[in-house]
Amino acid sequence: PLPTAPAAARPLSGAGGREEAEGASRATAMLRHLLLKLRATGPVTVAEYMREALTNPGQGYYTRRGGIGESGDFVTSPEISQVFGELIGIWYISEWIATGKPKAFQLVELGPGRGTLTDDILRVFSQLASLLSKCDVSVHLVEVSPKLSEIQALMLTGGKVQSNPEDNSAYMRGVSKTGIPISWYRDIQDVPSGYSFYLAHEFFDALPIHKFQKTEKGWREVLVDIDPDVPDQLRFVLSPSTTPATENFIQPEETRDHVEVCPEAGVIIQRLACRIEKDGGAALVADYGHDGTKTDTFRGFRNHKLHDVLKAPGTADLTADVDFSYLRKMTQGRTATLGPIKQREFLKNMGIDLRLQVLLQNSRDTATHEQLLHSYDMLMNPKKMGDRFNFFALLPHHRLADPDKKHKPESKSPLPPVAGFGELLLK
Ligand code: SAH
Repeated sequence: PLPTAPAAARPLSGAGGREEAEGASRATAMLRHLLLKLRATGPVTVAEYMREALTNPGQGYYTRRGGIGESGDFVTSPEISQVFGELIGIWYISEWIATGKPKAFQLVELGPGRGTLTDDILRVFSQLASLLSKCDVSVHLVEVSPKLSEIQALMLTGGKVQSNPEDNSAYMRGVSKTGIPISWYRDIQDVPSGYSFYLAHEFFDALPIHKFQKTEKGWREVLVDIDPDVPDQLRFVLSPSTTPATENFIQPEETRDHVEVCPEAGVIIQRLACRIEKDGGAALVADYGHDGTKTDTFRGFRNHKLHDVLKAPGTADLTADVDFSYLRKMTQGRTATLGPIKQREFLKNMGIDLRLQVLLQNSRDTATHEQLLHSYDMLMNPKKMGDRFNFFALLPHHRLADPDKKHKPESKSPLPPVAGFGELLLK
């Protein structure tokens, strides 16, 4: 069991001061910042700790490092295979066709990482240029990390971007290699309204979570504090009494004794649901997660290895499983939802096997063959990413309503099924 925090905030005492021996000055700066803060105000929520460690504007992990890819701290599906992004591009085109080919759409990606996924999607769009020729397509990226937005700009535009354009809410603008306008924002609220396809791949797992534990005295929030026994080390403690978050986020019918809640994910899903309800489009969320059943999933990654979440904050990726049941609840019925469905099922339904066959036939050299088969295995193997990752979608209600079963069956032909999701997964 975790120790309980002292009821009052600790008074400001002399700084600990001992620098980390390995000289990771950035880690030390972030740790020093947190130690000062904890000394001044007492323990902070896990959400506050996670936000500081990941996106603090000066020293946050994503702000400074954002180590996605083989040489970094974690690798993601779009970095493993181009096929992943291509199939997602086809999913959007298929939804665009199913809703009567609107004259314009925005592709809005949350947390685009290195920009690889959008790059693969735009390649599909340009291969289907004749189909999209009369459609006005634009790309809108929501990214808080200056470092990653630079990498995205390089990947997508070759680096030709304008910073702080005067005429809109974007902080950067450019044009893709295929001629599509791209804008960057810090917040989804800054993205112009309009028919949009939203994409969040490994985005929601990076948002700050609150953690709660059930005790004999009721629910208590898990907090981060300074370990009194070890200099400059952090530890988890339990709040001495209930916190506002405990009151707001634990459902009366909760049966687990350890719960993680990500209110920021809830707010963003709410915004997406409102926008889709009003302007149409669809959202695709892909991430590791569960449907409201898991307990303790908060973890860190550094150099592709599990990393103690409380050690050297700012130098490791911190993450928690996405609770899809919470996302579904936070749509508040404004949209329909599909899934979560396992990545391997989604990609199979999207035709990954056929795509692999084509790529294998198009190449003669064995190294490429091996690479293609290896990346297919990474994405699809149930023990690798196949079962761990899920796809979840938000769609306008009218996209899924079955006209056959409602009034006037003769007035419309049946709606095409949503690609990637089996029809049985409708919730
Ligand atoms: N989608 C990419 C990257 C995932 S990493 C991929 O799959 O490879 C998470 C991404 O979300 C990073 O780009 C990070 O900088 C960004 N991010 C994290 N917190 C964010 C926030 N609050 N608002 C916007 N972007 C955020």
